[in-house]
Amino acid sequence: MASSDETASVTFDGVRKVYGGEFVAIDEFDAFIENGEFVTIVGPSGSGKSTLLRMIAGLEEITEGDIRIGNESIKGVEPQHRGIAMVFQNYALYPHMSVEKNMSYGLKLTTDLSDDEIQRRVRETAEMMGIEDQLDSKPSELSGGQQQRVATGRAIVRDPKIFLMDEPLSNLDAKLKVHMRTELQRLQEELGTTTIYVTHDQHEALTMSDRIVVLDQGELQQFGTPDEVYNEPVNRFVADFIGSPAMNFFDVGLDGSTLVGEGIEYTLPASTADRIREGMTGPDLELGIRPEDIEYGSTGENAITATVEVVEVAGSDNFLYLEVGNEECRVRVPGGVKPGVGEQTQITFDPSDIHVFDVATGANLLADGAQQTSGTGTETDTASVSEEQSA
Ligand code: ADP
Repeated sequence: MASSDETASVTFDGVRKVYGGEFVAIDEFDAFIENGEFVTIVGPSGSGKSTLLRMIAGLEEITEGDIRIGNESIKGVEPQHRGIAMVFQNYALYPHMSVEKNMSYGLKLTTDLSDDEIQRRVRETAEMMGIEDQLDSKPSELSGGQQQRVATGRAIVRDPKIFLMDEPLSNLDAKLKVHMRTELQRLQEELGTTTIYVTHDQHEALTMSDRIVVLDQGELQQFGTPDEVYNEPVNRFVADFIGSPAMNFFDVGLDGSTLVGEGIEYTLPASTADRIREGMTGPDLELGIRPEDIEYGSTGENAITATVEVVEVAGSDNFLYLEVGNEECRVRVPGGVKPGVGEQTQITFDPSDIHVFDVATGANLLADGAQQTSGTGTETDTASVSEEQSA
């Protein structure tokens, strides 16, 4: 049952899920997850994340299209023979069984391994998870973090081709969550098992994944590395959903090479303006700029006047809420920068950090060309994105 290279990829081929004959929960979903990848499915509540996972697990039927593990369609394969193991948000441990029983029960039921072999595997996994001293305890005697480890251990002990994880950390407190996040990442790297991880938490997605599927209302918005979805969001939804505090958006139009809106006049390089003009489907645009890409108190070219409304002290960084025109503008500044409320200032940003969205379609008009080079994004880029997010 050990993972082999060809068999642990997952292909979604035109997958559609309709509940009750009319509610479309997933529409035309296509994606290819490589063997050994850690892929996170992220999106707001109700976007269809669990539905995707539950179809792989065999807990939901596929209405149309197909899902393949390796080259084999999962249709017609019993859930217990799909080579998957699932970890749920509520852990789903059997309350009356010891930790050891919880971990061995599935193996006894679905394999013909000897009792000795099962016991050996359970001990080994319990050691890996640091719960070897709790093997005789009942779940109710364990902390949330320990229960989480048992649930993960129970999945690992089955040596599946694929882990499916549905918000496995959301019942833990903030500190433990960060700890378990790194623990899960380390385990996944060590085991090299293809993992599909569902979360509504964009920060979790950015920090844990090789690649991220961003879903909205049952539709795939973008499938890319953390660096790509953060720095090259294909549309306004992804730009707004990924990143905290969120990207700033300003209503603008294009006049020659200048973006013009309330309190904003920003002249772009002519080639950038041309790209926008080629892609736009109507006159209404939005300028998007991330809080950390804004230079506070800088009076260079294209400077924009702003008024300080709120100063949020957040430790190593502070967040400023400024008014630009009639819009709020969030700016991240170093911890030492604490201007007075009501103070007038100027802000600037680099043209290369600007995103421009077509209001009618939501498309990021500057993403395409940029995406051709996004493959060169380094590990360091991604790591710094993650660090920024944890501020
Ligand atoms: P997420 O995991 O992103 O929160 P889900 O996959 O659980 O979203 O649900 C997607 C949509 O499908 C939601 O609108 C939800 O109400 C609906 N849904 C989920 N399960 C069922 C079901 N068994 N019957 C009808 N509608 C469902």
